[in-house]
Amino acid sequence: MIFCSRCVLPDTFPGISFDDAGTCNYCRNIPLPSQEEKRVHLKKFEDLLEEKRGKQTYDCLLAFSGGKDSTYTLYLLRKKYDLNVLAFVFDNGFISETAKRNIQTMTDTLGATHIIFRPPFDLMRNTFSLAAGKDIYSPKTLDRASSVCTTCIGMVKGMILKTALANNIPLVAFGWSPGQAPISSAIMQTNPRLQRISHRTVRDPLVALAGDEIRRYFLGDEDLLIDPSRWPVNIHPLAFMEYDEGVIFDTISSLGWEKPLDTDPNSTNCLLNALANHLHRKRFSFHPYAWEIAGIVRSGSMSREDAMEKVYQDEDMDMVRLAARALGIEVDS
Ligand SMILES: [Zn+2]
Repeated sequence: MIFCSRCVLPDTFPGISFDDAGTCNYCRNIPLPSQEEKRVHLKKFEDLLEEKRGKQTYDCLLAFSGGKDSTYTLYLLRKKYDLNVLAFVFDNGFISETAKRNIQTMTDTLGATHIIFRPPFDLMRNTFSLAAGKDIYSPKTLDRASSVCTTCIGMVKGMILKTALANNIPLVAFGWSPGQAPISSAIMQTNPRLQRISHRTVRDPLVALAGDEIRRYFLGDEDLLIDPSRWPVNIHPLAFMEYDEGVIFDTISSLGWEKPLDTDPNSTNCLLNALANHLHRKRFSFHPYAWEIAGIVRSGSMSREDAMEKVYQDEDMDMVRLAARALGIEVDS
């Protein structure tokens, strides 16, 4: 396998080509946000907080997994910006026990209320095992994340928006890393039109796969009639604020956050990750985190060497088999 000399994308990545220096077309063509662009976004973000703060019971609903990035985002929203945060935890049935402890410790320490939303385990197991075996999402979606992750995140985004609308929460925050989501979407007004697209690309294929019961975790078509002025603004501040894994780990560890030892190196909360990555690599011959990690390397927030280690070591087969047994699916090692 050949890898880009600058990021970590392999020659098996869809649509990739290399120049004479071994640099990939994504490194050459994707513009990096300038310091000026980051400053402009930060200013827009701070103005937005001033406008929304203190008007409702909660200023902000945060998608909170107890993982490192959403924990650091909670820290910023509480300590740096003093927002009244409601943390929304989606328990997919496969959260590491250490992550569960982190959820409690971090929300207690940072003074945020959290709610845990847990669909029935059998429903989640069935949905994940079906999603693991079939490509129901677009190729472009699967270039960026595994089918299992896309399923889970789709449900999280659906429930988060539903909860924000039901409770009049004006801001919805995510802890996306700079490689997961571009700066251009870091401050984005949600609206029925964008939601219709997401229904077509995620909700509808998932309902077709796993059955009508899944529909309740997404907005219904009637919700699209809600007055657009009540729809929240999505924010993911790590796109324009400093993103350095060392700083993130140091900051949250000093508050009592513990690194789980039972999860794959690319996750700090989910026990399915090793299996999801393993299946994706077998099927597509590239790592589902390669795109995200390549973006973080390009942005200068991670060394290429550290990144290579994250995405090109084999999964721990004990973790893979444990998750496969829980889902009732076969894996060959
Ligand atoms: Zn590259």
